[in-house]
Amino acid sequence: MKNPIKDKYYKKNKKKLGIKSKAYYQKNKKKCKAMCRAHYLKNREGNIKNYRNNYLKRTFNMSLGDYDKLLKNQNGLCAICGQPETQKIKNKIKSLAIDHNEETGVIRSLLCMSCNIGLGMFRENIDILKNAINYLIKHSIQKGERNGKELFNM
Ligand SMILES: [Zn+2]
Repeated sequence: MKNPIKDKYYKKNKKKLGIKSKAYYQKNKKKCKAMCRAHYLKNREGNIKNYRNNYLKRTFNMSLGDYDKLLKNQNGLCAICGQPETQKIKNKIKSLAIDHNEETGVIRSLLCMSCNIGLGMFRENIDILKNAINYLIKHSIQKGERNGKELFNM
């Protein structure tokens, strides 16, 4: 809540108050740190959600609710390999990545990190991806898979 009277007083006495609060902090470091920690823990979940929501809005023009809807539509699985995300960050499973068309910015689907990176490594080029599949098929003759027949005629 903004209080214009307090704000005016604060602006006028900014230096003095700063000195006071610094001195108070030095005297009560433990107490201040504990209060700060308690405040952080109390608001952590909400802050994480707010941060994520702002990130999604800023980067993809979508809300956290939009993301959750997409995730639900995909049953929480990657749109390419059909598996859940396995990569971890800070010991927690990452969220599925938001895949979007680099040129148009249109969001396509949610992908696991491997598939998302894989698409990028193949430069999102359909011909190169087809070549890669044909290459794998061609070299799987020894295993008797697909009898060496190409899947795509280029
Ligand atoms: Zn995947």
